[in-house]
Order: sequence, then structure tokens, then C-alpha cells
Amino acid sequence: MLELDSVTHRYGEDADAATAVDGVSLTIPDGEFLVLCGPNGSGKSTLVRHLNGLLEPDAGRVLVDGTEASEDPVAARTTVGMAFQEPRDQFVAATVGGDVRFGPENLGLDHAEIDRRADAALAAVGLDGRENDRIETLSGGERERLAVAGALAMEPNHLVLDEPFTGLDSPAREGLLDRLRGLHADGTGLIVVTHDLRELLGDADRVVCLADGEVVVDASPDDAAAELPEYGVRVPDQPAAGN
Ligand code: ADP
Ligand code: MG
Repeated sequence: MLELDSVTHRYGEDADAATAVDGVSLTIPDGEFLVLCGPNGSGKSTLVRHLNGLLEPDAGRVLVDGTEASEDPVAARTTVGMAFQEPRDQFVAATVGGDVRFGPENLGLDHAEIDRRADAALAAVGLDGRENDRIETLSGGERERLAVAGALAMEPNHLVLDEPFTGLDSPAREGLLDRLRGLHADGTGLIVVTHDLRELLGDADRVVCLADGEVVVDASPDDAAAELPEYGVRVPDQPAAGN
């Protein structure tokens, strides 16, 4: 379980520094599929980077399975996997196989276990058989899926994806969404950050919307859909236009 308790984050030291996240409290049970939305600059990326200890709050607490993320960053990073908005920043090796093996290698796992995890993670995103491909030759959708595989190879309880659909065409988007549905069905908690909910609403357990660093909506997808347009978040037409 992930718990944010009155988390505030400011960039910069001065009193007038922008408050990116402003007193957010959220409890995210294991296995939950949560969509985190809100306009650009509303604090989504800042907030999720607290969940695995990448950022520390200026006030409040972040608990991962009951332990403060800052106290045990290694545990936080193995429990909460994260794939970023711009996966280019995240790759550490030249090839698909090298990249997906990097995390498990750093956990000090034996070779058989590293192989098993790398194979499972690549299969989960449909990149099996592509181990020797150079990352620079992958399409945008494949890079996003590789970023997800890198996080999955850590076998996290929760997977955080920050704007994973940005720049993906429709087939790539559907492909990734299918993989996410499978992971959720297998018990992995998902936290998907997006400003565009098109296909996601039907799959999520819960929708949280941020505005100016504060939670303004925290509801079931159906209830949230009615409130989101007010905060500049696109929701699908209902019934969905056939496409
Ligand atoms: P979102 O992901 O919802 O677009 P962010 O968390 O990236 O929002 O940003 C929230 C606020 O914090 C914005 O006002 C943004 O300009 C500011 N911000 C984000 N990252 C930094 C940074 N590294 N330094 C200074 N300000 C930042
Ligand atoms: Mg962001």
C-alpha cells in the first residue's frame, strides 16, 4: 500500500517558490488501477516522483508498505516501478536486452533469475525476441514499451507510468493498453498519469485529478467523468464515438 500524507513539494528555497504539490493525501491499495490526471503543470509528475523516493516532500510523509520512502529508498524503488514521460532519459544500455537486464543485475540476482525476469518483462510488452535490437532503432511506441519492461523487470507491486501514451499512434496506444490490462489482471497496481483519458476510463478503478497541486477530484471513473471537464481534462464522449 502507498500512502501520501499531506505531501507538499516546492521547487526552490525562497518563500515564494512555486508550490508544485500542495498538501496531497492519498492512499493507494495494492492492485489498484489509478488514473492521475490534471492540466499541464498541475503537479502530477512531481507527485508521482515521491512514490519511489526520487523526490522528498518538503512537508508531509510518503509511506511505502508502512515505511517512509526516504528511510528505505531501495525498498521503495523495488516496490514502486516507474517509467517516465521521456523514456530517452531512462535507458542505460545500447540494446533492448541490456537495458531490461540492468535493474535485476543491480539487485544482485543470479543469472537464471535475471534471464527469467528479462524474458517475462519483454514478453509482457510484446518485445520478446528483440533483445539484440539497438534502442536507437526502436519506434516511439517500442521505446515506451521498453521503458515499461525495464520497470517490470524489477517485479514491482505498483507500476507508475508518467504520460505513457504521449506521441504514440493509435495501434501503439492500444498495444500498451492491452499490456496494462493484463498486468492489472495479474495483480500489479497501476498508476497512470495522463491529461487525456480516452480509453482509460473503462479500465481504471479510480480517478484522481490534480489542479494547482491539490486533489480536486477523487472518485470512481463514472463519477469523475462528470467533473473532469471543469478542470480542463478531456473525457471521452459517451457513448464513445465508434472508431
Ligand atoms: P505536471 O506533471 O502535472 O505537468 P509538474 O509536476 O511537472 O506538473 O509541475 C508542477 C509545477 O512545478 C509546474 O508549475 C512546473 O513548472 C513546476 N516544476 C516542475 N518541475 C520543476 C523543476 N525541476 N524546477 C522548478 N519548477 C518545476
Ligand atoms: Mg508531467
